[in-house]
Order: sequence, then structure tokens, then C-alpha cells
Amino acid sequence: MLNKWEGIILKSIPYGESNKIVTLYTREAGKMTAMARGAKKPASRLAAVTQTFTHGFYLLRSGRGMGTLEQGEPIDSMRHIREDLEATSYASYIAELIDRLTEDHGQSPNVFGLLHEALHAINEQYDPEAIALFVEWKMLPVAGVHPVLHQCANCGATEGEFAFSFQEIGFLCHRCFPIDPYLVRITPTQLRLIRTFFTVPIQQVGSLKLKKATKQFMKKIVRTVYDEQVGVRLKSRSFLDQLERTPELLPQKEKSEEKGE
Ligand SMILES: [Zn+2]
Repeated sequence: MLNKWEGIILKSIPYGESNKIVTLYTREAGKMTAMARGAKKPASRLAAVTQTFTHGFYLLRSGRGMGTLEQGEPIDSMRHIREDLEATSYASYIAELIDRLTEDHGQSPNVFGLLHEALHAINEQYDPEAIALFVEWKMLPVAGVHPVLHQCANCGATEGEFAFSFQEIGFLCHRCFPIDPYLVRITPTQLRLIRTFFTVPIQQVGSLKLKKATKQFMKKIVRTVYDEQVGVRLKSRSFLDQLERTPELLPQKEKSEEKGE
């Protein structure tokens, strides 16, 4: 059976002398893995369209076993992501997270839309760290975690002071603070930010300018939830952590901008 699907390449692995095995997330049918014969050869018409992050239309032949990628027609090659180390690193993290949290042929609602919005936002040079963070929050339900963020997770109150509880996976009001000795106190601003990350579409929040400390705080919470509830270890995360600790690893574009001001 031959199908034409809109998809984004999550992963592309060399296979044998001239082939690639590609994992793509399609708008219509979820995640797929397919053999792209000859795609490793630079002259192949499949070489460019099978590069990671490419957004395009893909002609897939499915049968017994793994499908075959017959043709691809690029919509966007995501040039900025490919050329910028920081953009590549965060986009790789997003692709790996989505790959790890979804199954082949499994249809998770909104995952294609989220991936599509996130990669395009990074490609348009929105803050890639913030975009990756939005994706982490928004993928929680796909990972089976449904944080309670609209009320107190214990008593349902909507008024009062709030804290984040990893035990309850959500907010606790001050009346319920005693049930979790390890809760994290949050300000009303942080509470609003967490709700925003979880509920508002990326195109509306992608332009938010977030302070480093805010991103660190949001990241600490969401990653603790992943570590405790989901238990996925991502290969691309250790590189990112290293990048965040030692930004001088990056080409010096930001520093030279600062000097110019
Ligand atoms: Zn309560």
C-alpha cells in the first residue's frame, strides 16, 4: 500500500552501505519507521529529504515488516536548525523526547502539531531553550502524566497560596501543605507561568522573553516529574546540560552582539 503523508524526520540512521532507516512523525498516521534505500549516497534524491528535522511530504510503501520510503518532497529543510549548534541541540532533544514517548503507528493527539510548531519556532530563531521547555511540559500527558494545575490536587481549592508537589503531581494549596513535606513553594507569577507552559499553544508563548533563572526553575520542576514518573533518560540531555553549564562551547555570536550594544 502506498501512502503520501506529511511528516517530520525525527531520526535518520545509516544502514548498510547506502541506506538509511528513518523515523518520521506524520500528521496523519503518527510515528513511522521506514527504510530509505540509497539515501546515504549524496547523489540520491532521498539524501536531502531524509535529514533529521526535515519537514515534507513522504511517499511510503507499507507491507510486511518495515515500510519503504519511496519519495520525499521537502516543505522546509529547517536550515537555521541545521546550521546553528544551539538550535540543533535543542531540536535534537525535542526529537528524541517525542521519539521515546511515542510508539510506531501510535496516534497521540497533537504530537505532530507540537513538533511542527516547536521546530518551526526554533528555525525562526525563537529562544530554543524556552521552546524545548514548552515541549517538555506539553508532552507530559503523552507520557501518561496529568498534572493538576487548575486547583489544589488534594482538596480542589482554587484560592490561597500554592506550592508544587511532586508527590501529588500538581499544585497544593496552603491548607494541604502538611501532606507533602517535600513540596516546592512557588510565587503567584511562577504558578501562572506553569499554567501557561502547560496550556497555551507554542505560537502564543514562543515570543515570551524568559529569564535564565525562570527557565532553570521551570526545567527543574518538569525534569523532576519526568525522572520520577516517566523514567526516560535522553542521550541528548547530557550534551545540553553541558552546553548550559559552559556556554562558551557555542560559537561566540551572543557575546559579539553584547559588545556591539
Ligand atoms: Zn488544598
